[in-house]
Amino acid sequence: MMPFINYSHLRLRLASTLASRLAMTQLATVRVPGHSEIKVPTGLFINNEFVPSVDSKEMIDAVNPFTEEVICSVSSASEKDIDIAVAAARKAFNTTWGKNVTGWERSRLINKLADLIETHAQELGELESLNNGKPLRIARDFDIGDSVQCLRYYAGWADKIAGQTLEVDNKTKFAFTKHEPIGVCGQIIPWNYPINMWSWKVAPALAVGCTIVMKPSELTPLTALKLSELVKEAGFPPGVLNTVPSLGPVGGAALSAHPDVDKIAFTGSTITGRKIMEAAAKSNLKKVSLELGGKSPHLIFESCDMDQAAIWAAAGITYNSGQDCTAGSRVYVQDSIHDKFVELLVSKVKELVVGNGLDDKTSAGPVVSKTQYDRVWSYIESGKQEGAKVVVGGTKRTGKGFFVDPTIFTDIRPDMKIVKEEASLCMLETRILFLRDSRRYLAPSFQLAGSKLRRKPYCWRMQPATAWAPVSIPGIGRELGSYALEEYTSVKAVHWNFGEKLDWPL
Ligand code: ADP
Repeated sequence: MMPFINYSHLRLRLASTLASRLAMTQLATVRVPGHSEIKVPTGLFINNEFVPSVDSKEMIDAVNPFTEEVICSVSSASEKDIDIAVAAARKAFNTTWGKNVTGWERSRLINKLADLIETHAQELGELESLNNGKPLRIARDFDIGDSVQCLRYYAGWADKIAGQTLEVDNKTKFAFTKHEPIGVCGQIIPWNYPINMWSWKVAPALAVGCTIVMKPSELTPLTALKLSELVKEAGFPPGVLNTVPSLGPVGGAALSAHPDVDKIAFTGSTITGRKIMEAAAKSNLKKVSLELGGKSPHLIFESCDMDQAAIWAAAGITYNSGQDCTAGSRVYVQDSIHDKFVELLVSKVKELVVGNGLDDKTSAGPVVSKTQYDRVWSYIESGKQEGAKVVVGGTKRTGKGFFVDPTIFTDIRPDMKIVKEEASLCMLETRILFLRDSRRYLAPSFQLAGSKLRRKPYCWRMQPATAWAPVSIPGIGRELGSYALEEYTSVKAVHWNFGEKLDWPL
């Protein structure tokens, strides 16, 4: 069963008088409790300016998942706005960017952007925490730190994009290849790592000379808008990067189907990935890269360092409140250590502080939205109803905030919904660990991991030089490393004939 997509929780509405005023100034003042006041742009970022939609009065409310209150409202791009943003990106590609700018200049600007993000790390971290719920400490030091590193890594590549010189069959001819920027790229990113996903997509595209129309998730549009300010400040020419918050089926669909977009890079659910691919095929057969969901198993054997194994397993499922395509949501434990391991795992999970992301002591915040909250709780309830045993968590909190405390089930059976449907759950959600006695299940579980589950490299903080790659079940293309450069370039072969004669007729 595929996950449902429900937009009803989004507080999308016609502009109120206040919202119209905000839209006119294209700036909101966001007070971060206990921290600073941040000016957040609220318009669409096109041609280096924040502008209102040309024809839509709809606004997207960015919600704080800790308080459930609206932080501020931002413009929501219509199809017409997407056309305008694509035209801006095309113009920049043909005039000031693309093949019109040297690699070292691209490198200089990307490094400048990385410096600015580093300087604004605290402010960006606060905004990310406020809108996504994740701990400020983690947003600032991990997500933003890693994003700066990612940008610098690709800044290093910008003047090293080269093709090959090829010997061909005789002395009167040679061929060479050029790796050219593919053109205008639509980039559609999710809500679980808004800044990280932004940098993974933006950095390689800019490095090779592509221009961008970026659509952040409607749940977390704020940091993409704040980053756009820094793009302008870094000195990128107008139109090189445009930011268009919008609902997925509006702006995301328009980008995917746009005849003048050369490539779509997407991270999100499998169900949306399929729609994007279909739209690409039906329009201009644009290049597509899809980074979709996944769930990873941990296999724990009796020879392990049990304390470390419990810590890694706990981190694997609780990191980012379980909203992770590499979440280690299943744990297979050798039966000889099963009970002891579960006890240790529960004790590690209980040490986590789940609370306000802005508090320095917090290890995990709320989940991102009411939809996400309802989805996770429906799985927890079904696990209970079908007889799985909750060993920690599993009880709703009272009060505000989309909280799901880390929840571990044991005594599960393969026919339970929480087991069967996990393989088709896409990124995000369950804070559920599945524990089984292993000897009986280890071999089948390996098969399961190989054949049915989408596997991802399980890792702790990605290094930009490595590849991020879906294995087995689809997903198309690779992110990070030199591999991502291939996603944003097309290879042109040039044949140079300086004397080869052809006998005629053939
Ligand atoms: P999730 O279910 O985790 O929210 P989605 O795949 O729905 O994941 O969302 C990831 C991104 O895809 C978001 O930016 C969202 O707006 C966008 N999106 C959703 N529906 C579509 C669509 N039909 N076409 C293009 N993009 C979409």
